[in-house]
Amino acid sequence: MAIYSYLLLWLGVSAGISINLFSTDTPHFLMFGGVLLVNFCISVLVVSGKLDNVREAPLTIGQITLGVGLITLVIHYSNELEGGLLVLYFLAMMFGLFALSRKHLLVVSMIIMCAYTGHEIWHWHAEPLNKLVSISVGHWFILLLGLIWFVYIGGYIFALQESHREQRRLLQEQQDELEAQNSQLSEYAIRDSLTNLHNRRYLLEHLDTEITRHNKLDQPLQLAVIDLDFFKQINDTHGHHIGDKVLVSFADYLREGLRADDLIIRYGGEEFVVVFINTSQDKALIALQRLQELFSKHVFTGNSQFTSSFSAGIAQSHANDSASKLLQRADKALYKAKSQGRNLIVTVN
Ligand code: GH3
Ligand code: MG
Ligand code: MG
Repeated sequence: MAIYSYLLLWLGVSAGISINLFSTDTPHFLMFGGVLLVNFCISVLVVSGKLDNVREAPLTIGQITLGVGLITLVIHYSNELEGGLLVLYFLAMMFGLFALSRKHLLVVSMIIMCAYTGHEIWHWHAEPLNKLVSISVGHWFILLLGLIWFVYIGGYIFALQESHREQRRLLQEQQDELEAQNSQLSEYAIRDSLTNLHNRRYLLEHLDTEITRHNKLDQPLQLAVIDLDFFKQINDTHGHHIGDKVLVSFADYLREGLRADDLIIRYGGEEFVVVFINTSQDKALIALQRLQELFSKHVFTGNSQFTSSFSAGIAQSHANDSASKLLQRADKALYKAKSQGRNLIVTVN
């Protein structure tokens, strides 16, 4: 934007020279070429990220100061246009309007006043008779009043922007919090609160997809339905809270004893489901037998010391199987294990 503004001003000054509004010895190539080069270098540094550590305000003040220097030179080489050209200082201020605080705008105003006062002093010193004192003082005051107005309005705009930014930040914060709560809620919806295992909803959402995926890849998938034996008795003898402890402990055995990519589900009550990803039936059986051995040795303490066991049915998925068919087959196998005396694992194809 600054570069376009300089080019436009350069065009104006060149036209002004040709119709004698500016002195013919105006070194406009040097003035504008130099300023454009500096601005170009700054743009390159900004784009390349080399000025990332420099704060915006000093950079903007530096750029405006460069512009103020150029404008003072333009005023210096103008013949009769000085009063009109004062407006250029305000255009330079415009660049800081949205980026600078009131304090920084005050600094820029002081730089402008110093530049213009310096120029006037030089003018009076070099060509004392060429200019009316009243006009010079008049210009000086117009510039001063204009800049005071600018600082006031600029500060107001900056404060507005700040509050807008703050509101946006707060809104973003609320949105982030809401998103976090949302994902927490979705997590709650698919987890069992007692054991922190995935729940039946999660299984039903994923099982069909897993069956299809395994069929496509021609990989074996096993589904085990596991039920703790005589669990009602544990509750009745030792209390519901001890029953809960057994459930949590069993969930830990499943988590620790099975592979991370197997799906472990608390299907309901004291019933669990394990989906063995890409596993043969033999391997699934061995994994559950190992668990069975470990779990049945765990001594719990309630009203007295006791141990627990589980029965399970394992079914393998078929081509064109569905979640409910697979679950039914595994359930039947479990029923068989229960009817054959419990603490058993039965497999079906
Ligand atoms: P079986 O060997 O035939 O499976 O007998 P069981 O006693 O385990 O089976 P039954 O279905 O008769 O009893 C299951 C018990 O599990 C009844 C119920 O109160 C208990 N139960 C279900 N959910 C929970 C729970 O979250 N915590 C506790 N402590 N008990 C539960
Ligand atoms: Mg049971
Ligand atoms: Mg049961």
